[in-house]
Amino acid sequence: VHVACSAEHSNSRPELLVVTVATKENDGFRQFKRSTEKYGLDLKVFGMGIEWRGGTMETIGGGHKVNLLKENLEAYKNKDNLLIMFVDSYDLIFTDGKDAILDKFAKFDSRVVFAAEDTIWPDKSLEKKYPQVKENEKRFLNSGGFIGYAREIYEMVSYQALGDQEDDQLYYTQIFLNRALRHEWKMKLDTRAEIFQNLNFALGEVVIKYKGSYSYLYNIRTGTSPIAVHGNGPVKPEFYRISNYLADGWTTSTGCQTCNDDLLDLTDVKDADMPTVVIAMFVEMATPFLREFFDRVTKLDYPKDKIDIYLHYSVDYHSKDVKKFLEDIEGLYPSTRVISPSDNVGEQMARNWAIEECIKKNCQYLLTLESVAQITNPTLLRDLIIQNRSIIAPLLKRPGKLWSNFWGALNRDGYYARSEDYMDIVEYTKVGLWNVPFVASVLLIQGQRLPLLRDAYTNNPDLDADMSFCEKARQEVLFMYVSNRKYWGHLVYADGFDTSHLHNELFDIFNNRLDWESRYIHENYSTSLQEDVKIEMPCPDVYWFPIVSDTFCDEFVAELENYGQWSGGKNEDPRLAGGYENVPTVDIHMNQVGLEKQWLHFLGEFVRPLQEKVFTGYFHDPPNAIMNFIVRYRPDEQPLLRPHHDASTYTINIALNRPGIDFQGGGCRFVRYNCSITAPKKGWMFMHPGRLTHYHEGLRTTEGTRYIMISFVDP
Ligand code: UDP
Repeated sequence: VHVACSAEHSNSRPELLVVTVATKENDGFRQFKRSTEKYGLDLKVFGMGIEWRGGTMETIGGGHKVNLLKENLEAYKNKDNLLIMFVDSYDLIFTDGKDAILDKFAKFDSRVVFAAEDTIWPDKSLEKKYPQVKENEKRFLNSGGFIGYAREIYEMVSYQALGDQEDDQLYYTQIFLNRALRHEWKMKLDTRAEIFQNLNFALGEVVIKYKGSYSYLYNIRTGTSPIAVHGNGPVKPEFYRISNYLADGWTTSTGCQTCNDDLLDLTDVKDADMPTVVIAMFVEMATPFLREFFDRVTKLDYPKDKIDIYLHYSVDYHSKDVKKFLEDIEGLYPSTRVISPSDNVGEQMARNWAIEECIKKNCQYLLTLESVAQITNPTLLRDLIIQNRSIIAPLLKRPGKLWSNFWGALNRDGYYARSEDYMDIVEYTKVGLWNVPFVASVLLIQGQRLPLLRDAYTNNPDLDADMSFCEKARQEVLFMYVSNRKYWGHLVYADGFDTSHLHNELFDIFNNRLDWESRYIHENYSTSLQEDVKIEMPCPDVYWFPIVSDTFCDEFVAELENYGQWSGGKNEDPRLAGGYENVPTVDIHMNQVGLEKQWLHFLGEFVRPLQEKVFTGYFHDPPNAIMNFIVRYRPDEQPLLRPHHDASTYTINIALNRPGIDFQGGGCRFVRYNCSITAPKKGWMFMHPGRLTHYHEGLRTTEGTRYIMISFVDP
């Protein structure tokens, strides 16, 4: 009965057991395991939790794997109809299941099939002993994957004693090159990458392909679609990048399919039960719009009593901003720890300490934020937590630029390299969750992973803090994901930020246009540009618009008062080409304070569209203006301006402070229409033709100081 039974078995399709060695459960292993589950493969893991004795894997080693197989496969050696497939697991992913593997294996007509590659390692002198292969085939054995019948596999791994530190690849190679054994065990190499694809030195021969909601790897050299894709050796970053797509992770027709794997559900979690977070902020250089940076951190949609604040700043320039921030948040968060320039703590150390702080507090998450990161979407923290990955960063970039907070690839020296899909990701053409070799600026790290990342920022003292961190994460096989599933914010441009003024951001319209706009442009500015909006017209052909914010007015006036070199209001004016001003005012020209270029840009970007809306048919882009100046009216200085024409096609006049409060009287009268604007609104601009029709005068300021900003556009 026994004989009949086993004969019947061996005629039927074999069983398949996938086995691997993994001493640690890292992200590489988790990804591997998910792929076996996805394709319904039976998996046995050997060595979990024990100490790895197989060496660093950067040189020879791996004998430990053979010994673990020997120990664990004995139990299977008599199962006639069982195929054992061994694969590495930190850097390997399956792209198909049992049926495909069995079909391919059957075609080999073999008892043991090994993965193959083009390079011979570790003993090059063995080359001559290798059988020849066709030109497009791989000649040499790789020990990262093999498949065969349980009996042969067991005999092979137990054939000879091998030290844990000795080399597994050499061990199997010697067996394979032993003709007698090769024939006895019917060993073959997968020279055409039918089942196993080793990616080292082979990246150029593979492409990712899609078929509906399926993705697979295609080898253009051998014309095969390998099933076990192995990022052996130094190609791991590129392997992990490819893994974003494999196992149907992302396809052209479905987008990101792995994005919703393993999510954390926080929907019904009460505030009191939300995970604890340490938010660690780093201000390591003079950074424009830091006020907004802090402000946006406090606006994160997350219970504040679950957040501890940690802040390192190393530039005195920001002392005031930090002080203000600390006042604003007083009592809001359970704890606040600030390390200031006088503490003399370098960036690397401060960052390492943030990890320690989080570990000490038993935190569930550490959110690190660099001062250049403007988080405009308050759901950020929740969104990243829900995504449930070891390390995750939101995609942030400089608006309108390709500069971002992640690298898609590394060059040989470990620095930035452009990956094939970098553009697609930064431009949101491909949306998803991307395993990348470097992320910076904003990172959410799971607290449970932090013990592995202790001292990560000084792990490699030759590197920047963030590069050292990422290198450490890669060494620990903790994945760093960048997500572009939503828009969460952007990066400000801080390099070379000129801090020589009182309000430096006023000058920063070119580098940080978006932040400039949100601080300085009136919140209702764009209403005037909507199609059917009626623009206020207080006098004939004088149009009135909200244009700049209160903050703009206050900082602008303060900046110019700080400069302080007001003209005397005399006809003789050395600042002018002709040296003479017919209707002089007490004023400061923009070119005196270095704001001329910015102002002309402002005219082009914000004023011109309004002009085109009200004076239709007149196009002049960019608008030109030689006279751009702030005017000061005071009862005891120059209180008014007699009627005059302007040397302009049109003039703009922006009220910089409040009538009735900051000053009394004032206003503008258009003589021909006998029409006055006596209640100018702070931050509002009026616009009128310069010559012929709009002869006008500045009305007397009777108390206080009135400030207006004037441009004679297209003189
Ligand atoms: N491995 C392990 N623990 C370790 C190192 C390695 O279990 O500390 C196992 C794991 O399966 C891993 C394999 O050994 O995939 C080979 O290591 P690695 O991927 O680093 O080597 P490579 O494929 O680059 O030769």
